Amino acid sequence: MDSIHNLFNIGNGPSSSHTMAPQKAAAIFLKRHPDADFFLVELFGSLALTGKGHLTDYVIKKTLGESRTKIVFNLQQSYNYHTNAMKFKAFKDDIQLEKWLVFSVGGGALKELDEPRSFSKEEVYPHKTMAEILEYCQSENINLVEYVNRYDKNIRDYLEIVYDSMDKTIAKGLIATDVLPGRLKVKRKAAAFYELYLKEKTFSKLLYTYALATAEENASGGIVVTAPTCGASGVLPAVLFACRDYHNISKEKIIDGLMIAGLFGNLIKFNASISGAEVGCQGEIGAACSMAAAAEAYFLGGNNEQIEYAAEIALEHHLGLTCDPVDGVVQIPCIERNAIAGAKAFDAANYALMTSGKHFISFDKVVEVMKETGYDLQAKYKETSTGGLATK
Ligand code: SF4
Repeated sequence: MDSIHNLFNIGNGPSSSHTMAPQKAAAIFLKRHPDADFFLVELFGSLALTGKGHLTDYVIKKTLGESRTKIVFNLQQSYNYHTNAMKFKAFKDDIQLEKWLVFSVGGGALKELDEPRSFSKEEVYPHKTMAEILEYCQSENINLVEYVNRYDKNIRDYLEIVYDSMDKTIAKGLIATDVLPGRLKVKRKAAAFYELYLKEKTFSKLLYTYALATAEENASGGIVVTAPTCGASGVLPAVLFACRDYHNISKEKIIDGLMIAGLFGNLIKFNASISGAEVGCQGEIGAACSMAAAAEAYFLGGNNEQIEYAAEIALEHHLGLTCDPVDGVVQIPCIERNAIAGAKAFDAANYALMTSGKHFISFDKVVEVMKETGYDLQAKYKETSTGGLATK
């Protein structure tokens, strides 16, 4: 597995796979052909079906140049490797300079055709499953934070930046009261929720408020941290910062929580998928809930086994969750889903802490099942907006 750094990307929403990664790909291609006089970009699969609502065409044109870029939404062709394919072509004086096929595989990551998904050029962790990590930690008598520190050199410095970015996003989302972009005319709710929290200060009210603040910022194209994706970016900050502000958890401990959350997110990314277009929302909100539950279990004083159990429960109880955003925008059901998953993460952690940590289904097993379930889901439930809530 590579560094947690590559899981927590900071950038503009609303989608890591449909906005951040296409923007990154367009920037790479532009660097290779700065003098091209025309770019043709074909979008396939989920990118073709929901790219408009997710601003894929907008960010590509903005990066390559509005006047010299044409986008084609190809609804006929698809690739088995991953649904989110993009074909970039550059021309100069009517001569094709290059054709580049690249895939947005989730969380802002890019891969080329048939490039192994679980292999990274920047591997820093020698272990590939939670079972291996737990065994190693036991033999070395270390906890999961010490484990991450041991292999992911200097990650703390980057996580300080992640912490600040999440904090800023919540602060921004708390004061915005406008209507979100798109035809649904969804009004932001975070500020109103915060007012209600101030009247009756409960932990869950603060948690919902922070989740909405981030998810609404994401939906408006604001800056968020992929945790592990943009669509699910509200879950982890809600749990972390509600714990900070309600339970006085220190910044240092919150950063420890980011390490633990990142470790679980990384395992899901490398052994299954965090792409809604590939495995449905269980890979986004389910993964985010699992990461947040692990961090919360750590804050509650859980040992390695209890933390692993919390992460397992949170993912297990999102199995089969479909991705069916209404009108192809990351708003309904996504925003509300972030708030509810935050509360679920808290429950999963509390439950795990009432046990010794011993349990039947391991985290690794549930990750495997999540992947299988996701592959079995019909395409209409995987970020295509052609089924489920999107068609009601
Ligand atoms: S339904 Fe879930 S996976 Fe789909 S766009 Fe919304 S948050 Fe992402």
